[in-house]
Amino acid sequence: RDLPGDPVEGPALREVRGAAWSSVMPTPVAAPQLLAYSAEMAERLGFGADLLESPDFPRVFGGNALYAGMQPWAANYGGHQFGHWAGQLGDGRAISLGELVTAQGERWELQLKGAGRTPYSRGADGRAVLRSSIREFLCSEAMHHLGVPTTRALSLVGTGEAVVRDMFYDGHPQAEPGAVVCRMAPSFLRFGSFELPASRGDLVLLRQLVDTCIARDFPGLEGAGQDRDARWFAQVCERTAEMVAHWMRVGFVHGVMNTDNMSVLGLTIDYGPYGWVEDYDPDWTPNTTDAQGRRYRFGTQPQVAYWNLTRLAQAVAPLFDDVAPLHEGLAAFQATYARCERNDVAAKFGLAACTDDDMVRMSEWRQLLQDGQMDMTLAFRALSALDPAAPSVVVLEEAFYSAERREAVLPALQDWLQRYAERVRADHLDPAARRAAMERANPLYVLRNWLAQGVIERAEQGDLEGVHALQVLLRRPYDAQPGAERYAAKRPDWALNKAGCSML
Ligand code: AMP
Ligand code: MG
Ligand code: MG
Repeated sequence: RDLPGDPVEGPALREVRGAAWSSVMPTPVAAPQLLAYSAEMAERLGFGADLLESPDFPRVFGGNALYAGMQPWAANYGGHQFGHWAGQLGDGRAISLGELVTAQGERWELQLKGAGRTPYSRGADGRAVLRSSIREFLCSEAMHHLGVPTTRALSLVGTGEAVVRDMFYDGHPQAEPGAVVCRMAPSFLRFGSFELPASRGDLVLLRQLVDTCIARDFPGLEGAGQDRDARWFAQVCERTAEMVAHWMRVGFVHGVMNTDNMSVLGLTIDYGPYGWVEDYDPDWTPNTTDAQGRRYRFGTQPQVAYWNLTRLAQAVAPLFDDVAPLHEGLAAFQATYARCERNDVAAKFGLAACTDDDMVRMSEWRQLLQDGQMDMTLAFRALSALDPAAPSVVVLEEAFYSAERREAVLPALQDWLQRYAERVRADHLDPAARRAAMERANPLYVLRNWLAQGVIERAEQGDLEGVHALQVLLRRPYDAQPGAERYAAKRPDWALNKAGCSML
C-alpha cells in the first residue's frame, strides 16, 4: 500500500518509557530509484526477478509504500557514547519494515536506514546521504565475504532528494544526494537496548527483552532461570570477542564503538565513520570527532569491546541474585579473544600452530610495519609469497609508503624475515597448501577509503558502475582477480588527507 505523501506530519519526538519500540511509518521520498542491490540477499529472501524489477520494489525500499504484512517500527535504546551514559537514543533514522521468515526458516529483520524521522530523531532529519549509504551498503557485504559477522544489506535506493550536512572540513552546510539502505539482520538488538530499561529501573521490560532475545535469537540455549541467562550473557561475550578478533585480523576500525552500536548477536553494526588500516598504526582512528579522546582507535578495539560488555553486564545484573556468572561471562570474552588471536597468528603467518614465541613474533612484525610505514593488507598478504628457503624483502616492496622509512627499518626487517623463514621451515608444511591457507587469512582486497571515495564521487554524478564493480570484486576478497590489480594497490598520495567519511 502507498504511504501518504506531502504534507507529512512527522512523529512527535518523545521520551518513550515502558516500551522497546514505537510504531512509525517511513516518510515517502520524491523519486525512489534502485541504485544497487545484493542478488545474494534477494535470493536468500526468496525475492525473484519479477519482484526486483517491479516498480514497487524501489518504492517499498525507498519508504514510499509497504508490502502487505509490513508493520514498521523504530526501536528504542540508550547507550554509552564515548564513555558517558547518553540516555535514550533509539532509531533516529532507521525504520524496520518487518521480519521475513524464509523458506529455509531463516528470520531476517528488514530495516530502512535514512527513511525519515521517528520519535527518536532528537531534532535531526532522519535521512542519510548517498555517500554514507554507499559506504554501508558496500562495506557490510564486503565484511560478510571476509568472514566477519555483520549485518547485511539488501538494497540501495536513491531518494531524488537533497540532504543538507555540515561537512567537517570546511564547516559549511552542503546539499548532497540522499539515499536509503535496506539492511538486514536476524535482530538489531544492541547492548543499549538493555541498558535503557535498566537505567530507568524498568525490570519488567528488561526481563521481557532478555526473554525475547533468547527465545528468538539464541534458540540453542536451553533451560530456564538465571543459569540460562548467564549462558546467554557468556555467548554474547564470546560472539563479541570473535567479531572483534576478525576486525583485528582484517584491519577494520569501527570508529564508533558506543554501546548503542554493539549488537548482542555479535554482528558488526552501524557503518558510520569506519575505516581500514592502511599504513599500519594501532593508534589510527577514522573518527574525526574522536580526535582528542582517540577512544576508538584500531588497537583499542578489544579493550573497548570488553568495556562495553561490562556496561551490558551492569545493565542485566538486577536480573541475577549473584553476579559471579556475569564475571565468568566477561572472562569468557578474554579467553575467546585470546584463542582467536592465537589462531589468527598461526593462520596469518602460515604456521601449523601458534606458540608463545609466535605471539612475540607477531608484535615484532607489527612494530616493523609501523616503523617502516607499511601497508597492513599488502604486507601480510606478501608474506605468503616469501620463499622460506631464500627470504627476501623484495616481496614487501609494494607495501612501503616511504623510501626513508623503508631504509630505516630494513636491517631489522631483514633479520626478522630470516627468523620467520627459519620458523616456517621448521614447520615442514606443504608450501602450496601453506600459501593457500595464508591467503585465506590475509585478504587481498578490502574497501580502502580511497576506493570507496572514488566510486562515491562517480555515483554522485549518476554513474553507479563503480559501486557495482566493487560489489562484485569484494565478494571474493581472498582471490586474486585478473585485471583488478588497481583495487589491491596501496593508497595513492592524493588520497592521504581525504577523510572520505562522515558520521552522518
Ligand atoms: P550513530 O552515532 O550513528 O550510532 O547515531 C547515534 C544516534 O543518533 C542514533 O540514535 C541515531 O539513530 C541518531 N541519528 C544519527 N543520524 C541521524 C539523523 N540524520 N537523523 C536522526 N537521527 C540520527
Ligand atoms: Mg548507531
Ligand atoms: Mg551511524
